[in-house]
Amino acid sequence: MEQRIFNFSAGPAVLPLPVLQRAREELVSYPGAGMSVMEMSHRSKAFAAIHEAAKANIKALLGLPDHYRVLFIAGGATMQFIMLAMNFLGKDKSADYVQCGSWASKAMSEAKRFGAVRAVWSGKDENYVRMPANEELDLDPNAAYVHFTSNETIQGIQTRTEPEVGETPLFCDASSDFFSRPIAADKYALLYAGAQKNAGPAGMAVVILREDLLELVPEGLPSLLDYRLMAENDSLYNTPPCYTIYITGLVARWLKDDVGGLEKMDAVNRAKAQLLYDAIDQSGGFYKGHARTDSRSLMNVTFTLPEPDLEARFVTEAKAAGMDGLKGHRSVGGCRASIYNAMPAAGCEALRDFMIEFQRKNG
Ligand SMILES: *Cc1c(COP(=O)(O)O)cnc(C)c1O
Repeated sequence: MEQRIFNFSAGPAVLPLPVLQRAREELVSYPGAGMSVMEMSHRSKAFAAIHEAAKANIKALLGLPDHYRVLFIAGGATMQFIMLAMNFLGKDKSADYVQCGSWASKAMSEAKRFGAVRAVWSGKDENYVRMPANEELDLDPNAAYVHFTSNETIQGIQTRTEPEVGETPLFCDASSDFFSRPIAADKYALLYAGAQKNAGPAGMAVVILREDLLELVPEGLPSLLDYRLMAENDSLYNTPPCYTIYITGLVARWLKDDVGGLEKMDAVNRAKAQLLYDAIDQSGGFYKGHARTDSRSLMNVTFTLPEPDLEARFVTEAKAAGMDGLKGHRSVGGCRASIYNAMPAAGCEALRDFMIEFQRKNG
């Protein structure tokens, strides 16, 4: 097999090697089925077992109580921006959004089509360098829900605590830190993640939904955008993204059984991120972190160099040294190292060493 490089892409992103290897072993003929998972009926016994195992592994991994459902819905996180607003916002209602970065803003623009949207806090004027403290949130006690983004992938900022929102249902876009650390599951009414950052291939969202929310879903929504219908049919109203569900299930199993759970994964992620933030902090200002220190993301490390042409050279030379995907998002510039669960510590060490050497030559 051709050598794998260190893939620092923000998404689609690196997957755990044991998962890819298992998928390769089972690619042509899934054990007992005599065909690929890609070729299986979504109503077959073999696929039902894959689907059940994926849900069970996710529930166990996140410690979800029984009154939470795990749904697999096509369309990624952006579809969830639309779907959650269609289901829980309405012409006569208002929803609260924490506007902490680019993805939060996108979620807000989609929701605005369906009802009133309030920013309970906005980091826009500060160029999204930090997450807000709870006291800063101007919450509406009558809001249909409060929506926040736990990790802003583009800016590289993360919050590790849920906003305190009282009785209002709490919704979270956890696309880029899903599965990366333990969460207080029962604080959430709805939590969703586009799979391609930390959970699997692209094109699907994993949706965690508290069951009582289903009673609020209005009649007459388009079928595929109706959480109640999706839940009643256990994500199988139409043909689901079967192969993506299969890989996501393998990733959850890998985290649970091989890594040993989310506490362990979190400890590894902290150590990995520390390597890169130390390199930034010890560079005497050559590398500048975008995020304020207390809001630094453990998943996406964003930084700039003294000049744009140095940044371009950094990205090119890193690529030649086997480290790809380090160019920052076009809206923020600079560099970004996405170091999701599946990025090995060796990848962060290699990048740290490269950063030190690049500075020595160019600083
Ligand atoms: C990538 C990302 C999205 C968009 O995901 P799609 O699957 O492309 O729709 C939304 N929110 C966050 C936080 C993301 O990182």
